[in-house]
Amino acid sequence: MNIAVLKERLERLDQGFAKDDLSEKKVEKALVLDLSDESFYDWVIPEQYLNAYVSGPALGARLWAEFAGANIEEPSTYESNNPIVITSSSLSNSGMPGCESVSIAFRSPVSQTLRFNVGSNTFGMRLRAIGYSALIITGRLRRPAIVDIKRSGVTYNISEVFIGYCVSQIEELVGVGPMTTAMSIGPAGEQKVPFAAVICEGATTGRGGLGCVFGYKNIKSLCITGFDTAFERDGHEESIRKSFQKLYDALDASPYCKAMQRSGSASLVKSGSLKGWAPVFNFSRRTDPRLFHLAGDEVNRRYGPEHGGCIQCPILCRHRTLNGIAIPGYESALMLGSNIACFDMDKIIERYAQCLDFGLDPVSTGNVMGWASEAWSSGLADNLFEPDFSFKDNSKVLPLIEMIARRIGPGEPLSFGTYALGKACNDESFAYTIMGLECGPFDYRGAYAQSVSDSMGFWFTNHFEINSNLCQKDHADWAVLNERLVMGLESYGLSDSMIVPTMVDNLKHPNRLIRIIPKSDIKRIKPTLLAENISTVTGKDVQPETIFELGDRCWRLIYEINRILGFDMLNDTENLLPVHFCIDPDSNHNVDSIVPYRELMDRYCFLRKQTIAFQSADLNLS
Ligand code: SF4
Repeated sequence: MNIAVLKERLERLDQGFAKDDLSEKKVEKALVLDLSDESFYDWVIPEQYLNAYVSGPALGARLWAEFAGANIEEPSTYESNNPIVITSSSLSNSGMPGCESVSIAFRSPVSQTLRFNVGSNTFGMRLRAIGYSALIITGRLRRPAIVDIKRSGVTYNISEVFIGYCVSQIEELVGVGPMTTAMSIGPAGEQKVPFAAVICEGATTGRGGLGCVFGYKNIKSLCITGFDTAFERDGHEESIRKSFQKLYDALDASPYCKAMQRSGSASLVKSGSLKGWAPVFNFSRRTDPRLFHLAGDEVNRRYGPEHGGCIQCPILCRHRTLNGIAIPGYESALMLGSNIACFDMDKIIERYAQCLDFGLDPVSTGNVMGWASEAWSSGLADNLFEPDFSFKDNSKVLPLIEMIARRIGPGEPLSFGTYALGKACNDESFAYTIMGLECGPFDYRGAYAQSVSDSMGFWFTNHFEINSNLCQKDHADWAVLNERLVMGLESYGLSDSMIVPTMVDNLKHPNRLIRIIPKSDIKRIKPTLLAENISTVTGKDVQPETIFELGDRCWRLIYEINRILGFDMLNDTENLLPVHFCIDPDSNHNVDSIVPYRELMDRYCFLRKQTIAFQSADLNLS
């Protein structure tokens, strides 16, 4: 990789993009942690970056390239040359619904490409409260440490005592509470399990092996203390009040929000079963009547309406049992449940909690166990389990999850992940990965648009296909629209969960027009209400097109960085999707289907080449 070439290319992009400012001019700082000598310092983020990329994943990708070391290709220096960049929302602490998204950019140790994970937690808000818009972590600690960040400075608490601690133990130790939050890893991250996750506020901060990168850097926990009581917003208070009210009215009227509040994202299980994207028995089936037990109505009946949400998110989709235990969203419920032939929500809740406590990504763990169950039943992994092992039995599965995280017993081979297991067994036909990353929770034969963005390494939900019924043809076009919106909103710092209530649920006559005029709904989807709210909060004119523009800039940065990292997203598109989804129509769903992968990718690449051409023409870029 030639990092100098990348920096030169990005400087040309910066200059072109910065001609068209997308954010208010402000001085913003990043806190840089240099782990190699346990130091820290302030770094002023160049104004040009803020104007061109605002915040979130776009700014995170740009800062990642700024701090990436020249020797990132060498395995021995991978961990010290691969920075982690955490960016807060530009709308943080504004009071706008959905304004507290936090983005983490890093190079995945599995796919070797740049990834960004976005979640909603208080980490970004606390970072801003102590005066920073971004946290940049470079280098590598010599020994495991809890890194404690406060307004007064950074403390590195180094000790081998933390080794083997689960996330709950670490959180108790650092005192997670009303003013303090932490991103922590469990034993899986320490053991560099490729699907290890970083856990924050009872949820993973995303996939791609971030927990493994924390493990490489010897960060056991990143703990931050800070709070702010005053709103940070530049607009006129009365206009802000009125535009927030319009937004709340849309959210109140949204059937999607009502379903989420009633039964959480489990309400999507039924549509997954009907549309045929639900993973069942290691992706061999796409539906099952027993999915009823994991679906919204049943979850609501069994566990009641107790629910809450992430900070500042009005969707409130996170449900709990009467004992206060988190009920997993549909992604984890399907992968830890139906994908390994378990349809008992009580058991899935325990599995989910076990994955989080040991620092494993639940979706990826479900994929690995799906492989194990098929390998075992087909005689490929005879000596992996005792004869009485059953994936329906939590007295067997919970210890297996711990063994995967700690790399011991039968968990040791499984901890290498499905890709390595398929290769080791000389049979990759049911090892479902994309660029080495574990698949899930979609059987792509029922979710074509989702397959497009997942193949490109984005992995966020396609709101028009999964969370609504708008996307029924022109799948590549919907995939591009979804990418532009998700990356645009997240780069302003808004949660993408606002898309369905503000852009789909209030669409007049959805699905009817599309039969008469193809792609008509694609053209009608615009983030008008959200753009209006961002404008009133920031005092800067933000149009719906501005959000699309920022999404395209984010995509372009990731494209340029990945090209230098060895993955050309427009040319290296052969065979990214597991072949099973492209050639095997057999399943129990009433519509036989295979993903028309080549056709989808050709259209996607055509549309994305247009993105590059428009940017070049508009900004005189090449
Ligand atoms: S939609 Fe649910 S998971 Fe997403 S930010 Fe809102 S409450 Fe959190």
